[in-house]
Amino acid sequence: MSFILQGIGVSEGIAIGHAHLVTPAALEVMHYLIPKHQVDKEIARLDSAFAAVRKEFEALHKSVVDGHARAEFSAFLDLHLMILDDPTLSEAARSMIAQTQCNAEWALKQQMHELLEQFEEIEDAYLRERKADVVQVVERVLKAMLGHPGYLPIASKRAGDSILVAHDLSPADVMQYKQHQFVAFLTDLGSQTSHTAIIARSLNIPSIVALRHAHQLIIEDDCLIVDGNQGIIIINPDKYVLDEYRLRQGQLELERKKLKRLKSIAAVTLDGTAIDLYANIELPQDIEQVMESGATGIGLFRSEFLFLNRDDLPGEEEQFEAYRTVAVKMHKQPVVIRTFDLGADKSLKGSIQVATNPALGLRAIRLSLAEPKMFHTQLRAILRASKYGDVRILLPMLSHAAEIDQTLNLIEYAKQTLRDDKLHFDEHINVGGMIEIPAAALSLDLFMRKLDFLSIGTNDLIQYTLAVDRIDDAVAHLYDPLHPAIIWLISHIIQSANRAKVPVSVCGEMAGDKRFTRLLLGFGLQQFSMYPAQLLAVKNQILKSHLPEIIPLVQKIIKADQPEKMVALLAKLND
Ligand code: PEP
Ligand code: MG
Repeated sequence: MSFILQGIGVSEGIAIGHAHLVTPAALEVMHYLIPKHQVDKEIARLDSAFAAVRKEFEALHKSVVDGHARAEFSAFLDLHLMILDDPTLSEAARSMIAQTQCNAEWALKQQMHELLEQFEEIEDAYLRERKADVVQVVERVLKAMLGHPGYLPIASKRAGDSILVAHDLSPADVMQYKQHQFVAFLTDLGSQTSHTAIIARSLNIPSIVALRHAHQLIIEDDCLIVDGNQGIIIINPDKYVLDEYRLRQGQLELERKKLKRLKSIAAVTLDGTAIDLYANIELPQDIEQVMESGATGIGLFRSEFLFLNRDDLPGEEEQFEAYRTVAVKMHKQPVVIRTFDLGADKSLKGSIQVATNPALGLRAIRLSLAEPKMFHTQLRAILRASKYGDVRILLPMLSHAAEIDQTLNLIEYAKQTLRDDKLHFDEHINVGGMIEIPAAALSLDLFMRKLDFLSIGTNDLIQYTLAVDRIDDAVAHLYDPLHPAIIWLISHIIQSANRAKVPVSVCGEMAGDKRFTRLLLGFGLQQFSMYPAQLLAVKNQILKSHLPEIIPLVQKIIKADQPEKMVALLAKLND
């Protein structure tokens, strides 16, 4: 039967392929009964998953001994090994399979609850809090059983037309799937500027989030049409619909090819204003795509992605190599490295989320200042890489000028340690700040006196100004880049920075959305940073824009307080 589901299209394009269901949240397991003659086999499956995780832990232990991982990690591993060996988990799960003929995942999950209840009764608060470790160990065993990530053998059978369908994906999950050739991403949860959506966009494949029950309604191997522009999926379409979409897919491909011709053309408006188009990246490997896009610099290197999907922290040498590679490949073009923006939805593996509102908690620069040793390692690595190109430091989530002062002191200290070690770096490295919290936008004069440049993070600026969680699909309809307060704030930041002659860029998703290109140009923006896949479409808009014509219309948009009027004026601007 053919049917349609509607969600939020977060990455444009059309994909046609077959569903591949994944369950990254390993605790969502299937419950079923197995025939009696398969009980031994099922127990063996459980045993080999335990053995695989034990082997993983032992390898990790070795990396601690060899000095490749943090020493504190050792205590954490010992605890996890203890949990893994607890008979309540493995032994009891084995007997449960034998007695009730339930599948191994189901048995293990029931035993996990049993163990969690026992923890609940412990008086010692520290031990009681170790419940999260029990869950993590069980997740590892479940993932080992499920062949995580994502039953890839099935996906690889269909290389080239697999569509990933998940209930939810963390940014770390998406990074893992980045290496596999999916042609589209679909999730039940998510919103336009969740990091998950942002990464999906960076892959330049159609993606739809907030599909609600897609993960339950779609069956493995279903034929799917994904229309990222409309935010719809058609499940098991008939031949006529398939033909129609194949035609549209061909047209989009043609348009993409045409845009490629703009790669080496300079981004200059019709009246002769030169615009810098920079790229956003997560890892050094993304540079290939940057080269293909014709970007003239890296406007945002989200360095925190070097810290995800691993059990240890990247050391100074590893980070230095990553930053140096990018600096060298960019041949003296700007490379803006944002210090790690960890916390909230981008947490370190093994860290326990305790904050009620993680987006308002110990995230980004706040975490860096709370973990000076970890921050120092990164600052030394960035500074050392600055010898190899035009490297700049960008500080995320600034809300208070004191955070800038403290960071500048830490940078100075890192520089001194490098001088002591006789290591070279750019003594005059530029330090900029992200303007993504309303308090920063409203304290701009003070911030500008302390910083060399600004970068507007519209994703968070919208989240924090409108008090709309950027990853919560239940409030996604309230996340509005055209809200009068947002329009006013962004235009105010750009105009103030231009008046003060402080370079300013936009590196949030608005910069890569061609619907907003002329609006931002009209505010006076001359530096845009976005995913390489979005760059040529934005350049195309710039080449067709004439600032003296745009500016009066943009002034009207800034003054318009009715949303409908704003939308109408924006349509006229983009005409
Ligand atoms: C932003 O907030 O706009 C931004 C660029 O940073 P991130 O999306 O990584 O939070
Ligand atoms: Mg941000």
